[in-house]
Amino acid sequence: MPDSFFKPVSGFDLPRFAGVPTFMRLPNVPVDHPRFDDVDIGLIGVPWDSGTTNRPGPRHGPRQVRDASTMIRAQHPVFGTRPFEIKNIADLGDVGPNPADIHDSMDRITKFYDTVIAAGIKPLTVGGDHLVSLPVLRAVAKKGPVGMVHFDSHTDLFNSYFNGTKYTHGTPFRRAVEENLLDPKRVVQIGIRGTQYDSEDVDFAMSVGIRIIRIEEFFKRDLSDLMQEVREIVGDQETYVSYDIDFVDPTFAPGTGTPEVGGPNSFQALQVVRELKGLNIVGSDMVEVSPPFDATGNTAFLGASIMFELLCQMVNN
Ligand code: MN
Ligand code: MN
Repeated sequence: MPDSFFKPVSGFDLPRFAGVPTFMRLPNVPVDHPRFDDVDIGLIGVPWDSGTTNRPGPRHGPRQVRDASTMIRAQHPVFGTRPFEIKNIADLGDVGPNPADIHDSMDRITKFYDTVIAAGIKPLTVGGDHLVSLPVLRAVAKKGPVGMVHFDSHTDLFNSYFNGTKYTHGTPFRRAVEENLLDPKRVVQIGIRGTQYDSEDVDFAMSVGIRIIRIEEFFKRDLSDLMQEVREIVGDQETYVSYDIDFVDPTFAPGTGTPEVGGPNSFQALQVVRELKGLNIVGSDMVEVSPPFDATGNTAFLGASIMFELLCQMVNN
């Protein structure tokens, strides 16, 4: 049971537009803070988008999501879960990347997450573009491959971009399978759609046993039936949840670099996470929120709302 230190500031005590914004108005607990080892779940910003192949901007995501997340209240509307009364949750701050060097940035990110994992803290990350997930998984899956539930309109399974560049936000999970960070037979990708370069990514998925649920199947099937299959694929072993905001239709989430039309609405965006009940979640992320394309701020607010859903799943294990 968390002590008062880990309580978020309530909107009853201080209006939501006031104060220094941290994720969900939680205490800021950097690695050298005396309470760092007491944290159970850490909300972490990774303001880095050097893997972006198209429109940039997710480096500004964590700051914008922190602001939008001041709207998040204490209790889940359906389950009644009060996550801040179950686990010690804190904003661990940002990992400082090197925007001029992809590999140095990834090393810095993995090093930070090694410290987080060593302290027994489960990370909930805000990107950043989707390449962020690779250095995070290098820390989370250090002991062995994990399963993954991946919401996205893209597979992010391509081998390379621009004649041989292997580290972009279109390649992280290809690398993660190669590096034995993911068990491909326990990976499921949901929401895949849009025009394609070719079928190289899907061919790879088929060859290693990754389950792809394209958007046509998503809309055709009953959601709880579909998500039951998802839970069966990842089973009760360690599982990572990666959520690219471009999973959601650009009507609801326009603030992202590679939007694809014909996607889920904002209700379905929350509902899919509510159906992850009972999984053994070792970490999760919310990536690709790009404030420069988010004129209304709704994308960042949806991202913050999805984070709260992820948190409500993570406090249960
Ligand atoms: Mn992605
Ligand atoms: Mn995507």
